[in-house]
Amino acid sequence: MVLDDLGSSLRGTLDKLRGKSRLSEEDIEEIVKEIQRSLLSADVDVSLVMELSDNIKERALEEEPPAGTPARDFVLRIVYEELVDLIGDSTELPLEEQTILLAGLQGSGKTTSAAKMAWWFSTKGLRPAVIQTDTFRPGAYDQAREMAERAEVDFYGNPDSEDPVEIARKGLEETSEADVHIVDTAGRHALEDDLIDEIEQIEGVVEPDTSLLVLDAAIGQGAKDQAQQFDESIGIDGVVITKLDGTAKGGGALTAVDQTDSSIAFLGTGEEVQDVERFEPDGFISRLLG
Ligand code: GDP
Repeated sequence: MVLDDLGSSLRGTLDKLRGKSRLSEEDIEEIVKEIQRSLLSADVDVSLVMELSDNIKERALEEEPPAGTPARDFVLRIVYEELVDLIGDSTELPLEEQTILLAGLQGSGKTTSAAKMAWWFSTKGLRPAVIQTDTFRPGAYDQAREMAERAEVDFYGNPDSEDPVEIARKGLEETSEADVHIVDTAGRHALEDDLIDEIEQIEGVVEPDTSLLVLDAAIGQGAKDQAQQFDESIGIDGVVITKLDGTAKGGGALTAVDQTDSSIAFLGTGEEVQDVERFEPDGFISRLLG
């Protein structure tokens, strides 16, 4: 089963159910408590954890396990289904011509993710281009150019310009031979008005098919505000979770997924352009509970 890779305490609790065909209310309470502990330590928002626990409890108590199904498998299935329901499938990204806009705070991993995603599309036989519109962070241009080189994808940026909207416009023209355009934007340390104004203008010019919010896996409570503001200004279709190679499990990003009613598109797992995975729920769920 998909949840084989569980954390030891949750597995221990579930193992106590081995051989049982019926679950008692205490069994369910114990499992749900264990799941809550795992999810909270993975930074999943408290209210999401509570909602999930209630659903799991209700279903485990009310539903009849199919004949012959051990109690352990029955409850695992419910846990899995409820988590999939919350997290959803990966953000739909057709393998065809498209424009993707990246949003997020400074340091979240946008520039790195732009190059990674471009690399990923190139492995699917498409011709991607990265357009760097960050005129705010010193070094952003060089970093983006170098990463695009390493990813062997087209690149446009202008280190002499202070007009990100113009760079975006020009970038689309200059990279017209590419079929996937990934537009990186400037971040700020916080959600300042000028950041929102700027990204709204860029969005108006590039008319993205998909706008993705880039979040550091270590994000906690801050995810909600960011998600809400970016969603209101440009509309968020999906989330990229970066730095999953660290200790953080990325549960905070689920708040953003819930807030924007979107899904997860990519996971960043390192500093190299190849360190990217298309999101798939199974591995992520095992990790959250692990
Ligand atoms: P931006 O300000 O949002 O464009 O963020 P950057 O792309 O510059 O990333 C900020 C820092 O995080 C850089 O040092 C990146 O190398 C690092 N970084 C980005 N993604 C990952 C990742 O998935 N794993 C690790 N370990 N580091 C990452």
